[in-house]
Order: sequence, then structure tokens, then C-alpha cells
Amino acid sequence: MDLKSKIRVVPDFPKPGISFKDITTLLKDREAYVYTIDSLVAFCKDKGAELIVGPEARGFVLGAPVAYALKVGFVPVRKPGKLPAETVRYEYGLEYGSDVLEIHKDAIQPGQKVVVVDDLLATGGTALAAVKLVEKIGGIVTGVAFVIELSYLNGRKTLEGYDVYSVITYD
Ligand code: 5GP
Repeated sequence: MDLKSKIRVVPDFPKPGISFKDITTLLKDREAYVYTIDSLVAFCKDKGAELIVGPEARGFVLGAPVAYALKVGFVPVRKPGKLPAETVRYEYGLEYGSDVLEIHKDAIQPGQKVVVVDDLLATGGTALAAVKLVEKIGGIVTGVAFVIELSYLNGRKTLEGYDVYSVITYD
């Protein structure tokens, strides 16, 4: 399937010079959405995922259906102040800016196999933050999966040592 044709590229969003890959045009397309989720499910299944972790907010849209398909749980990683119970936090650098992410301290059983799912791998900062949060609370990251990888931003280098999968790559 030509998934790239389903992604809308928006120049200069959210800042001048950034070519934003808009996945809403893929999500609303039944066949493209199903194909994308099925591809992510196959990878997560292969990695023995017992839990899916997704960063806010597009990681929810993709991670939750993957978890449902695998009949495993889903754990959100969120911006500060959004999760109601005790959290652990991790600070990181983004493609455009810097941020903090949090996870509930009791979200993962020690030793549980986790795959992190997000929409897009750019510099890898967001995914690495999610990976570190999982590890901080005792989970084992067996893979990191994306719909889109911007290979020229070298996110795989940031995630070195982890098994990285992406459905589509932009070189
Ligand atoms: P990174 O932390 O790898 O530099 O940036 C990836 C994060 O920023 C992801 O959570 C992703 O949602 C968001 N992001 C950065 N650039 C884009 C883009 O072009 N399209 C989309 N959909 N998300 C982006």
C-alpha cells in the first residue's frame, strides 16, 4: 500500500522550516489506518509485548488499538501535571523545543515486556524519554515502533541498542 500518499505534508508547521507530517489524513482512511495498525501489531507481537506504552497524544491514537488487538494493557506517557497519581518524570530535548514527560509510578510490573508506540521518530528524544520512564519503573523495553521515521534526523542513533521499527521512512 502507498501509505506515503495518505500523509499530508504541511510546510512551516508549527514553525518556519519544519515540514510537518500530518497523520490525520492517514487515520481517517479506513484501509490505511487498518494497514498501519496491523503493521505495528505484527512488530509488537514479535517483540513479545505484554504492555504498550504511548506518549501523548498521537501515541494514544496508535498505541491503544495496538494494545487492544494484542489483548494487552495500554499505559499513557503524558505531559507534566496530567496524570493524577504518583509519577516519575524525565526531561528531554524535542525537534522543536524541550519538554518533560511523566508516567504513573505503578504503571508497569517489574520485568514486564513493553513496546513503546508513537506516530513519528524525529530526533528520538520523545521516544527515548518514554523508554527511560519505562525502565525507571522496572519495565523491559523490547521494541520501539513508529508509523513514520525521518531518517535524516538520526533518531535511531538516539535509540541505539533498542529494536526500532517504522512503517514508513522519509530519507
Ligand atoms: P522527536 O522527539 O523524535 O524529535 O520528535 C517526535 C515527537 O514529536 C513525536 O511525539 C511526534 O508526535 C512529534 N513530531 C515531531 N515532528 C512531527 C511531524 O512532522 N509530524 C507528526 N505527526 N509529529 C511530529
